[in-house]
Amino acid sequence: MPSSFRDDRVATYEYRCPDCGTFERSMPMGTAMTSMACPACGRDARRVFSVPMTYRTPGPLATMLAREEASRDYPEVVERVPPGQRP
Ligand SMILES: [Zn+2]
Repeated sequence: MPSSFRDDRVATYEYRCPDCGTFERSMPMGTAMTSMACPACGRDARRVFSVPMTYRTPGPLATMLAREEASRDYPEVVERVPPGQRP
């Protein structure tokens, strides 16, 4: 591994495959995509928003960062209509 690819702010992100269940990927904060191919079957796995397990980040700050990132990565959340209230 090239040593130039180092970032202290690495977080573990969780994805859920509809077939295989959840798996985790570690990557620098802010680079996580909202979905990625399942490593087992290749299906589209959606990112799960548990609080990322960040290193060197206190709990409350990690939660704040997670919320901030969630609102950035998931703008559609605010537009989501609860079941039964669709037009
Ligand atoms: Zn899968």
